[in-house]
Amino acid sequence: AALCRALPKAELHAHLHGCVRLPTVASLAPRGVDVRCLLAPHAADRSLASCFAVFAAIHATVTTLAALRRLALEVLEDFAADGVAYLELRSTPRALQDADAAGYIACVLRAFADFEAAQLAARARLPLTPRLILSVDRSASAREAEETARLAVRLAGETAYVVGLDFSGNPTRGRFAEFTRAFEEARRAGLRTTVHTAEVEDAADTDAILAFRPDRLGHALTLTPTQLARLRAAPIPIELCPTSNKKTLGLANLTCHPTLRTLLEDDYPISISTDDSTVFQTTSSRELQLVAEACGLSAEAVAALALKPMDHVFERDAQRVESLKAHFRRAAAEA
Ligand code: 5GP
Repeated sequence: AALCRALPKAELHAHLHGCVRLPTVASLAPRGVDVRCLLAPHAADRSLASCFAVFAAIHATVTTLAALRRLALEVLEDFAADGVAYLELRSTPRALQDADAAGYIACVLRAFADFEAAQLAARARLPLTPRLILSVDRSASAREAEETARLAVRLAGETAYVVGLDFSGNPTRGRFAEFTRAFEEARRAGLRTTVHTAEVEDAADTDAILAFRPDRLGHALTLTPTQLARLRAAPIPIELCPTSNKKTLGLANLTCHPTLRTLLEDDYPISISTDDSTVFQTTSSRELQLVAEACGLSAEAVAALALKPMDHVFERDAQRVESLKAHFRRAAAEA
C-alpha cells in the first residue's frame, strides 16, 4: 500500500462528476434534492443503474459556475494528494443556471489554470499536470455530439489543456454508429479519441467501435473471443478500472475479472484507473494496490504498471511526456 501511494501515477480514466467530494455536493444541494442519496449513495449497490442515479443527483445539485469551480478544484487537489502526477479528467459539457455548455468547459479550464498557478506558488514537489477530455453522452443526440466535438476541436486549438473526445454515458442507451461522424470530425482535426466499450453485452456496438479504432478503449469487458483476438493482433490501449468493473459485472473479487490477468500477462497496453473515485470510493493508489494483490505483482512490476499509461497519454507535447516519464522512473527508484 505504501509503495502504491509513494509512486507517481497517471490517471487516464476519471469522470469529473464521479470524483467530486460528496460532502461538498451535499452542502450545495438545493431544497428538493435528497442529500442522503448523495452521502450514502446506495451504499452497497454500485450496479450501473444505481451509479447513474447518483450521477443524476449530483448533476441536479451542481448547477452554477461557482459550484462547478469549487468541485473541480477539489478533484484536482484529491488526485494530487494521492500522488497523481498526470491526470486526464473527462467531463460532459452541459448548460448550468449561469452558463452554456461552452461556459461550463471554460470554467473547468480556468480551475485547471488556477490550480497549476497555485501549485507553482507553493513549489509543489510533485506537481500534477491536468488535461481535459470532453465527453459525448451516448444518450444525447448526434447533433449535440457534433457540437461537443466542434467545441473540443476549437478549444484544442486554443489551449494545451484539451486533448481528446470521449464516448460515455448509460451504455444501455444509444449506439456508437449514431455518433461516428462526430468522432471522425474530431479525429480529422487531430484530437485523440477514447470510447467506452463493451460495458454491457452488445457485440454489434463493440464491432462498430473496433472498426473505428479509437486511440484508447474504456473498460472493454464483454469482448467476444474474436474481438479479443483482434485486439491482441492490433492492440488499442485499454483503460481498465478494477473496482468499477467489479461492480458493473457483479464480480465476487478481482481474480474473476474477465481480462485483467491475461492482459497483464500479455504485456498488453493498459492503464489502471479509478473511473469515478467517489462513486466507487477509491483512489488511483488503491486501484494499483488491488491489482498488485489480485495478481501477486512484485514491487518492480507495480512500478512498471504505474509507468505504463505514460505510453498512451493524449498529451501533445512529447517533451513533457519524456520529462514526466523520467520523473516517474526517478521516483520509482527512490520508493
Ligand atoms: P461528468 O461527465 O458529468 O463530469 O461525469 C459524470 C458522467 O460520466 C455520467 O453522467 C456518465 O455520463 C459518465 N460516466 C461516469 N462513469 C461512467 C461509467 O462507468 N460508464 C459510463 N458509460 N459512463 C460513465
